[in-house]
Amino acid sequence: MDVQSEQDFPVTRTDEEWREMLTPEQYQVMRKHGTERPGSCALLQEKRAGTFTCVGCGQPLFISRTKFESGTGWPSFDTPVEGSVEESRDTSYGMVRTECHCSQCGSHLGHVFPDGPPPTGLRYCINGVALNFEPAE
Ligand SMILES: [Zn+2]
Repeated sequence: MDVQSEQDFPVTRTDEEWREMLTPEQYQVMRKHGTERPGSCALLQEKRAGTFTCVGCGQPLFISRTKFESGTGWPSFDTPVEGSVEESRDTSYGMVRTECHCSQCGSHLGHVFPDGPPPTGLRYCINGVALNFEPAE
């Protein structure tokens, strides 16, 4: 599955440019729909106030107060910054899941599941390597 190629995003880079700007793990996750090892990302423990932005383009994706501990080993959020995260249907691995990606550069972020806390009831299960954290002043 290659969602990115079917759509134009405001920020586009060639495959070579992506390889240069991302670490091999980030490239695998963000451009090849990979999944980081659960519990492997330091951002899982990030509890300060601030903003999580896209590694691919810098767009703010999630704010810290929407982050919650899901026990999955991946940073989890119940609400994205409005307009920053787009969804698509992912039927890989014999499952039907909702994939989510950055609306600005198309980088894969993770998946959305309907078992999150109120009020949204959603769980955005995100690969921490796709995020940068900017602490609030
Ligand atoms: Zn992005």
